[in-house]
Amino acid sequence: MQQRKITFIGAGNMAQAIVAGLVSSGYPASLITVCAPSEHHRAALAARYGVNHHGDNAAGAHDADVIVLAVKPQLMAEVCRQLAATVDFSGKLVLSIAAGVNVSRFYALLGENLAIVRIMPNTPSLVGKGLSGLFAPSGVSESDRAFSADLMCAVGKICWVEDESGINGVIAAAGSAPAYFFLFMDAMQQQAVSMGFDEPTARMMVLQAASGAAALAEANPDQPFSVLRQNVTSKGGTTAAALQVFEQQQLNHTIAEAMQAAVARAEEME
Ligand code: NAD
Repeated sequence: MQQRKITFIGAGNMAQAIVAGLVSSGYPASLITVCAPSEHHRAALAARYGVNHHGDNAAGAHDADVIVLAVKPQLMAEVCRQLAATVDFSGKLVLSIAAGVNVSRFYALLGENLAIVRIMPNTPSLVGKGLSGLFAPSGVSESDRAFSADLMCAVGKICWVEDESGINGVIAAAGSAPAYFFLFMDAMQQQAVSMGFDEPTARMMVLQAASGAAALAEANPDQPFSVLRQNVTSKGGTTAAALQVFEQQQLNHTIAEAMQAAVARAEEME
């Protein structure tokens, strides 16, 4: 990975996850600075990972090569205006992980010539199992694209979208998706409890089935999910009986509607 000076604006969950991933993969902590108003917060992060910290965003970003905007979307405009007042963005790469703030908004806030990549990570990034969708407008260099990809590979896997609207697809298929699986797992746990298992046992069974299914799929990358499902479904057996109920209830249709609702909500938030 190219070594550049990186400044994080915001030292919350997602910034911490990326810093942790970078440092544990050998990126020099001395090249990383985190900026946040709370001294306690950023000093704890600095002590844990050996990175630099600053209470003043502009001072922290001043000599950075890469600025990662990691504040809440509703704070983004204010934070960008403050930065733009004193920081020269030419030659810097800006990465935004904020949901719902599109590239044209960043051009308006930070200048039309801005080198910006929009990134949509998801919460499993906090444990190194994230999926980040990335979008780079046409002017962004190959080197900046490669750096952005390497940065997010520190917390999981990545996929590029060609069109900015693809970010909303990433939200539906990956950003919001951990909650879909938790919903499914919660319902299964509740049912296992009502079948007589205690809660820890029910949780353990469901979690092991979920992570086991994911591990099987990962171990067989050439097999479509539908084939993996068929492989564990004997004709006339118990799995077939359960799957038939999902089919009768048109689970596929419900999933499609739910994902479309996520896209529609993401579009509303832009
Ligand atoms: P968070 O609330 O944990 O962190 C926000 C950080 O911003 C805090 O450290 C806070 O001190 C800091 N902050 C507040 N005001 C500031 C200011 N004026 N200047 C500098 N820093 C300031 O939030 P998070 O979960 O890390 O989310 C950060 C961004 O990542 C958001 O835009 C969110 O949309 C995006 N995101 C998060 C997730 C996720 O799973 N957590 C997923 C996708 C995208």
